Amino acid sequence: MSKAKNGTARKDPGEEPRHGHHISPKYSNLRIVLANLPYAVMVLVGMIIIALALGLSSSAWTAAGGYVVYGVVGALWIIVFLCPYCPSYGQRSCPCGYGLVSARLQPKGDTELFKKKFRQHIPVIVPLWLIPVLVGGARMLSSFSWPLAVLLGVFVLDSFVILPLISKRHGCKYCPQRGACPWMAG
Ligand code: SF4
Repeated sequence: MSKAKNGTARKDPGEEPRHGHHISPKYSNLRIVLANLPYAVMVLVGMIIIALALGLSSSAWTAAGGYVVYGVVGALWIIVFLCPYCPSYGQRSCPCGYGLVSARLQPKGDTELFKKKFRQHIPVIVPLWLIPVLVGGARMLSSFSWPLAVLLGVFVLDSFVILPLISKRHGCKYCPQRGACPWMAG
């Protein structure tokens, strides 16, 4: 057991979150994996949408693969350029585990800069939410397809409803940065 940044005792890995306004939860590995599922689903469904919308040709799959690479690089981008400035850097209070990975890759940054870094770096990943909708939507306008319609429905539900809902109601709810975070304000 070690001391957390705010001086409270830091419990062992695997402990379930504790709820309360002044206590940061400590997310177990299982909770961390579950918290990453909506993002993984978004990237995989987005990949299939792009491949389907572009006709399942080899170039369509290349574009779809590029989207997956973008999804992975986007997550790494946040880990490298944003997480070092978060109070959950290196802590199990980070719901998705990025903060733990960040501590292995980058030195700690100044938490006072978090808001500025958030505004700088979140736009880098925003197109991940838009590309499948634009590519799939364009295809639907030219020729309607039920499989594509269903996949677009799943993508929108996952990335625009479930993912933000889990972030705001689950992880961000206990984040010490909550008051200053543009994501919560948005
Ligand atoms: S809470 Fe968000 S910004 Fe903070 S370490 Fe985790 S992923 Fe990074």
